[in-house]
Amino acid sequence: MDRKRVRYRVNRNKMLRAALIALCAVVILTGSIIMISGILKDKKETAETPDVSASPVSDIDEVKESSSLILSNISQGVSSYSIIETNENCKIYATYPKTLSIKIDKKLEKYVRRTVDHFAGDCDVEQEKRSEIKITYETFTANDSVISVLLTKRESRTPLYQELVDVKGFLFDARTDEEIPYDEFFTGEYRKYINNALFDKIGDELGGDLDELNEMDPSPEFILNNSGIDAVFDKRQFGIGEGTVRVTFTIPQIVTFIADAYKTGIYDVDPEPIEDYMPVMEGIDSSKKLVAFSFDDGPNGDTTKRIVAALKRYNAHATFFVVGNRTKTEKQRDAMNACIEAGCEIGNHTYAHTKLTALSESELRKAIEDCNDAVEEAVGKRTSLLRPPGGSTNQFVRDNAGYPLIKWAVDTRDWESRDKDQVLAHLKSETFDGAIVLMHDLYESTADAVEEILPWLYDQGYQVVSVSELMAARGVNMKKGEVYFSAKPDEVQ
Ligand code: ZN
Repeated sequence: MDRKRVRYRVNRNKMLRAALIALCAVVILTGSIIMISGILKDKKETAETPDVSASPVSDIDEVKESSSLILSNISQGVSSYSIIETNENCKIYATYPKTLSIKIDKKLEKYVRRTVDHFAGDCDVEQEKRSEIKITYETFTANDSVISVLLTKRESRTPLYQELVDVKGFLFDARTDEEIPYDEFFTGEYRKYINNALFDKIGDELGGDLDELNEMDPSPEFILNNSGIDAVFDKRQFGIGEGTVRVTFTIPQIVTFIADAYKTGIYDVDPEPIEDYMPVMEGIDSSKKLVAFSFDDGPNGDTTKRIVAALKRYNAHATFFVVGNRTKTEKQRDAMNACIEAGCEIGNHTYAHTKLTALSESELRKAIEDCNDAVEEAVGKRTSLLRPPGGSTNQFVRDNAGYPLIKWAVDTRDWESRDKDQVLAHLKSETFDGAIVLMHDLYESTADAVEEILPWLYDQGYQVVSVSELMAARGVNMKKGEVYFSAKPDEVQ
């Protein structure tokens, strides 16, 4: 019977159309019988199969030997459709989820059907061994509103029979049944952030050049799950062989990049600090004495720029804890960009220099995140460290800040004295290996002191670094809600 069908197809002409229609009817009937028997086998499923007629049975190509769309329980109440077809050329096994929406099911079906048909149409008849395609899926529904589906396709074609792997992800809005483009679900520089994480994982395989990777801008597919989101890359995108690379993010790690419209339910969590400012470790010898300079309350145009220029001459860095409402003018933004260009770090000093211990939880979050937004607007990056104004912290602030809290071990009291020599005296007598130093980039006297202290510190064998660099060099893994005064473990609160 099958041979005959193939011949019919090959010799297709108008006169055979009637015969083909009759054949289609047979196939539809056969498919339906298989389906019905599948349903009957699974009693649990019978209650929820009203839309089984939404199956693509009528699309089945008459050449297929056996063809069926089976609805079955996979596990934990997730149902799926399966397409299982075998003929003399190829074996097809495809499965995709049955959602609560016929419209979404149809979209998935269309994609799967097109993929298997394309494969079947390409199979080589003459080969001994049959080509195989297998499509499997992962699915997850987040907050009852976002349905995530990842289809993995594995193809082994004769004669090479080498397995090729492809992934395709979908996000659907369960309320509208529409597909959500990744660029709508995610926001900001999420691709860059994900590339960084990918690079951390397989940087060596990629040739060790992050800039090159960012330039390639590989496009991952995504699957949401209970604990976070996986980005799945096709290795062929960067020419490192066959298969996929999966980079896993917890929800707090990725939530900064989820669009506000979806930041509910499981995504309504505090973000983990984003390492936008990868510590610039080049040229830092961690066996030498290190001191971190930090400057608060800026930026301040000229004095900030003078300080940055002085640091630059020594290949030194610092962390500038800026106040969000001081990041609006051209001059202020210029100064911040000069900091970043010089390899310095921008930290968070709240939007309006508000004492955090006096705030409610929502006011506290707002004071911090408004500054974060302002910094992002000014220089395109968010901050990962918080300096509480006045150094005021308590358990409530620690519990709710969502960032490491950076205090200081050396207080120059530059704001009080406004006197270069007094600042120098503090620095010379109090600086120790691992210390965080507090200054303010608002004063000429402070800029004068920085220009003068740098040669002295370098003579003493110190390197001046940012807070993140100091901690990274000393192996301190900063955690949100913890307070740091220096890189000395016994001084970490
Ligand atoms: Zn301050």
